[in-house]
Amino acid sequence: MFYEDLSDYDYRDEDSFTDSESGVYALWYRPAYARLNIGWLEAGKPYSKGSVPTAFVEKLKAVQEVQWMNVCLGFHECDLCPADGAPEGTGEVRIPGGPGMAYAAPFLITHYITAHGYRPPRSFMDAVLAVDLDAWAAARWPDVPFPWVPDDAERMLE
Ligand SMILES: [Zn+2]
Repeated sequence: MFYEDLSDYDYRDEDSFTDSESGVYALWYRPAYARLNIGWLEAGKPYSKGSVPTAFVEKLKAVQEVQWMNVCLGFHECDLCPADGAPEGTGEVRIPGGPGMAYAAPFLITHYITAHGYRPPRSFMDAVLAVDLDAWAAARWPDVPFPWVPDDAERMLE
């Protein structure tokens, strides 16, 4: 799947978060915030390249260890890699941007950065660096590591 950086995300109407500890609990809702695509790369489509700060990559990896979202959509393989040995990822990442706007990136974004030299927009890197990782890592069901889940989100409890 290819989407231009900072274009509107319309892949899926709902955002869904799964509890990373149990892998069972889930919640979903139709976001009131806008979603902007980041890092949806595809072979043959040009993308922005360049070095990125190590602190940003480390922070993004740490975020991906605690946030588990839109994971039930099947696997997505990196098609910039040779077919055998291409890593697969499942799920996406949500990072709060400005007021009412969140970035929507595929799980493979860190692979695109470290293996294929992808350089995301500066605004995305700043948003990742601004994440309160301690608070996200401490979130326990029914809270999830993302600050904008509405109170009326639907929850699957078992
Ligand atoms: Zn790859």
